[in-house]
Order: sequence, then structure tokens, then C-alpha cells
Amino acid sequence: MPYLICRCPETQRRVDLQLYTDYATLARISSNSVRFQCPHCGAEHETNVGAAWLEDALGGISVAHVS
Ligand SMILES: [Zn+2]
Repeated sequence: MPYLICRCPETQRRVDLQLYTDYATLARISSNSVRFQCPHCGAEHETNVGAAWLEDALGGISVAHVS
């Protein structure tokens, strides 16, 4: 199952949100915001689900953007 990735606004590095979802769910919650503890800069960030993207389990492949 794909997992949800976003980007740290401070370091521009990718962050695994540890939130496993599918495309239908992602589309439904795309206007929701998620808060997460950033592993790169240590701060707590808030982002829209719609600003995140899905990668498959192999990693490195950006497979979807929800707008
Ligand atoms: Zn950060």
C-alpha cells in the first residue's frame, strides 16, 4: 500500500508521515491538515494532506498528486 510523504518546509527534505492510505482515501481527506513531528529539524509542522503525495513501498517514485 502506498504511504504518504510530505516535505519539511525548513530543510526541504522528504518526511514519511507514517500514514498509510490509498488514493480514494487521500482524495477524501485532501483538505484535511496533518500535524507531525519532523525527523529532520525536530519541529512540529502542519501540512495539508493535499500538499503531500503518495509513494509506493519501493520508494522514490512519486505516483500521485491530489489537488
Ligand atoms: Zn522540519
